Amino acid sequence: MIYLSNAFNQIRIGVKLFMGVKESARRTYIVPEFPDRLHIQTHSWCNAGCIFCPYTQISREKPMGRMSWELYTKIIDEASRYNVQRCALLLMNEPLLDRDLPQKIRYAKDRFRERTEVMITSNGSVLSDEKIKGLIESGLDRIKISIQGLDPEVYEYTMGKLKYDRTVDGVRRLIRAVKQSKSKTPRVVLSIVATGSNKKEVRSFKRYWRLRGVKATSVIFENKAGNVDLRGGELAPTGLKSPMTCFRPFRTSYILWNGDVILCCSDWGREVILGNVLHQSLREIWHGKLANTVREAIRDWDLKKLPPICRSCFKAEATGAHHKKPVFIKEFVNSFMGLFGADRHLTEEEEEIDGL
Ligand code: SF4
Ligand code: SF4
Repeated sequence: MIYLSNAFNQIRIGVKLFMGVKESARRTYIVPEFPDRLHIQTHSWCNAGCIFCPYTQISREKPMGRMSWELYTKIIDEASRYNVQRCALLLMNEPLLDRDLPQKIRYAKDRFRERTEVMITSNGSVLSDEKIKGLIESGLDRIKISIQGLDPEVYEYTMGKLKYDRTVDGVRRLIRAVKQSKSKTPRVVLSIVATGSNKKEVRSFKRYWRLRGVKATSVIFENKAGNVDLRGGELAPTGLKSPMTCFRPFRTSYILWNGDVILCCSDWGREVILGNVLHQSLREIWHGKLANTVREAIRDWDLKKLPPICRSCFKAEATGAHHKKPVFIKEFVNSFMGLFGADRHLTEEEEEIDGL
């Protein structure tokens, strides 16, 4: 009897795991009532010139500016009425250049429920002691820092105007300060974009930082919907492939400093503007006609109906240096953890680089 009951339990768990994987695939195309995640551009400037990023060119061509406090709080106030998983205060910029960032983080932390993660991704180049203190006191949950290499020469070549020693010194001080703080937040994650120019660095970068107790990840190079100059194959020597599907417009809203809501973090040319939060609610834009039409085209990967930026959107073929667990393994883990009521973890496909 005991054996039968154990066998039954195992079958039940197996079915649940299988259904979890299926459910996860189905959820990709379900449009929630409100975006699960937000990316808010509190200003549009950056102090770097990464070779894999369109910033330098776009900043010369497009209007640049700073989001007003009124607009920022309007977005957060609306979003805090829904079940937002993540609020990222960055989009195509360097968030730490915003002198009011701690105040904005604090505002979001006070409005959102406990389970909403407030985070930034930064190049880490301006981590002064004052900024570090401000970030810790603001209640920021996570900071992802993009460091393009372990070798100063590779780093400085890849990130344009930034200095390796200065960035790494700031990162070390941040890690130390977080450890010494009561809150132990923000969690620090280091990240490298795997390109042809740093491919020898990716493994050693991750090993170096992990040995020092810091989480380090790599992400695959994306051509930012055709907005990046590929430098004759230097950035993607193993070639590029079409994503053939995309979860971003089904999960996330991307809001520029002037209130424009763009299609995704690759839309540097601001080609698909879904609406503007100065005049509309974010929920209205999220369920708007244009957003739904584009989602339909993406879901079916209908080349005739896809916006031109999606047709030009490619990511690099993974190299050996970018180790990625197959998605089904992560989904299996997610489903297993779900049996015990744990929150779903993001697959790497779902972890977005969004500006870095
Ligand atoms: S351009 Fe289209 S396919 Fe590429 S990330 Fe944006 S929405 Fe997805
Ligand atoms: S990737 Fe980020 S840090 Fe580098 S230039 Fe672009 S916005 Fe700036």
